[in-house]
Amino acid sequence: MKQKMIEKKLDEEKNNKNQNIKRILRKRPLLIAGPCAIEDKESLYEIGKAVKESGAHVLRGMAFKPRTKPESFQGLGELGLQILAEVKRTLSIPVVSEIVDTKHIDLFYKYDVDILQIGSRNMDNYELLKEVGKTDKFVLLKRGYASTLEEFLGAIAYLRNAGNNNIILCERGIKAYASSTRNILDLGIVNILKTLDETKDLTIIVDPSHAAGRRDLVIPFGLAALAANADGLIVEVHNKPETALSDKDQQITLEDFKSLAVKTNRLISTSKLLNKF
Ligand code: PEP
Ligand code: MN
Repeated sequence: MKQKMIEKKLDEEKNNKNQNIKRILRKRPLLIAGPCAIEDKESLYEIGKAVKESGAHVLRGMAFKPRTKPESFQGLGELGLQILAEVKRTLSIPVVSEIVDTKHIDLFYKYDVDILQIGSRNMDNYELLKEVGKTDKFVLLKRGYASTLEEFLGAIAYLRNAGNNNIILCERGIKAYASSTRNILDLGIVNILKTLDETKDLTIIVDPSHAAGRRDLVIPFGLAALAANADGLIVEVHNKPETALSDKDQQITLEDFKSLAVKTNRLISTSKLLNKF
């Protein structure tokens, strides 16, 4: 009997927590910001505090980094998630972190990560999709860097078929033959996803950081994405971008994020005004 009551209470708490995150994810524009990788507690706290004050709704910070080269910084692993949990508690902000392997699911529960990111390199990792789909966590699914719309829809179906419909979609740029930026930002897909029955009710965001690959273009790409109907942005922000351990060319400063947040709100007010006429 006592056990039943405890279970009921835990279920209620989980339900309330999920409702709270759902409410936060409905913010427009939804702003997710933070460093590419968690490097240490002090910097994550400084970045988290600053982006929250500027208006970010969710803090990003990766503990497991899939990198092109094995000698590159791979993330702090479990220690990173532990730091993320501490900063989340102190700042009282939901967090998103990337999961790269099914064997880490328990760790993401242990450290209470609210949103599991499935990164571009793993969009078609079907075993990962099936296992993450079985969890009751929110999922941020990034489009594969060379994925077609059909393939993206397939990945969404894997999550749904496994029982998870708490999905946020993210366009982060795709590879192209000739590109002037790290990737080509495909804003067309944002609008297409907004019209398809399978996806129109999902939150659809854009990652201008990995699309641009360079700091000076992150704000224009972000604003373009919002003007083109995206529900929000996920942006890499660092307190000292030039010495960041990963993606140092594309992380924007705390001040730049503040300016981006102000501009996004102005843009949204203007579009609301324009839509009136
Ligand atoms: C990231 O968001 O940290 C990341 C690695 O992005 P992507 O999977 O889009 O390359
Ligand atoms: Mn990155």
